[in-house]
Amino acid sequence: MTDYRSPTTEHRFSIMHESFSLSRGKLVSFLTCQRQFQLRYLQRLPWPVVPLAEPSQALLDRGQQFHQLLQRHFLGLEIIPAAIADDAVRRWWSLFQRYQAALPHGRFLTEISLTVPLDGALLNGRFDLLILGEKDGTPFAHLFDWKTGKAQDEATLRQDWQTRLYLALLAAGGAALLPPGHALLPEQIAITYWYVTEPDAPRTLHYNTAWHTQNWADLAALVAQITALDVEEPWPLIADWSACQNCAYRVLCGRQDAGSQPVVNPDEEAALLDWALEPELP
Ligand code: SF4
Repeated sequence: MTDYRSPTTEHRFSIMHESFSLSRGKLVSFLTCQRQFQLRYLQRLPWPVVPLAEPSQALLDRGQQFHQLLQRHFLGLEIIPAAIADDAVRRWWSLFQRYQAALPHGRFLTEISLTVPLDGALLNGRFDLLILGEKDGTPFAHLFDWKTGKAQDEATLRQDWQTRLYLALLAAGGAALLPPGHALLPEQIAITYWYVTEPDAPRTLHYNTAWHTQNWADLAALVAQITALDVEEPWPLIADWSACQNCAYRVLCGRQDAGSQPVVNPDEEAALLDWALEPELP
């Protein structure tokens, strides 16, 4: 079997210095509200400042348990269903065992981070499962992502910044995970989303060069937009107050009147979980 190398360790930089990191959560935060991005990631104000509503915390806890369970599974550890305390997590595990599609042969890397530089930023992603292998003498990289929220259609997933960022990261930097001299073309990269809510219908998206060219240009434009802002000045607040309902910084922005909204929507739950599972690089 091919000897694939382990990834490099996490890099730590600050926007106040030469580089800053951009994860999916940070990209979404910036696109949602530039002030939120500044308060959370540049000024490092605590988030959240109040405990989550009970339903949201329970959903978050279950999602994290399920991801940890699958991580242990792909590390080769035995999973004993009777030892899974939470009924929902035990049911999800049962569904996963029953419906899991055949995985390609290769090297399994679970909860692995990949960081790639782009114009003064460090793009970063953390993958639930990455399988690196060879087919007909050509390397491939296949990502798998486990979801406990509402299933999304493929058109929506194509536009999701997780999809776009993760595929772009592998196309731009995935060769670093391969043996020396190996390249990884966009056409050799794919991502599969598996949902506990639709376990028999995983969504697989295949990358290609045209999509990567557009993705990379969009990411570069976002990096340029961020670096053009003055870190000493308050960044723009979002005009739509409804976005403030789940933001910890309402008081700082004088938007207490936006009210608070417990996160019970499955879409928001999924975003919250993705955010919570991301590494908090500077
Ligand atoms: S409260 Fe609203 S305006 Fe202020 S940071 Fe949060 S989302 Fe942005």
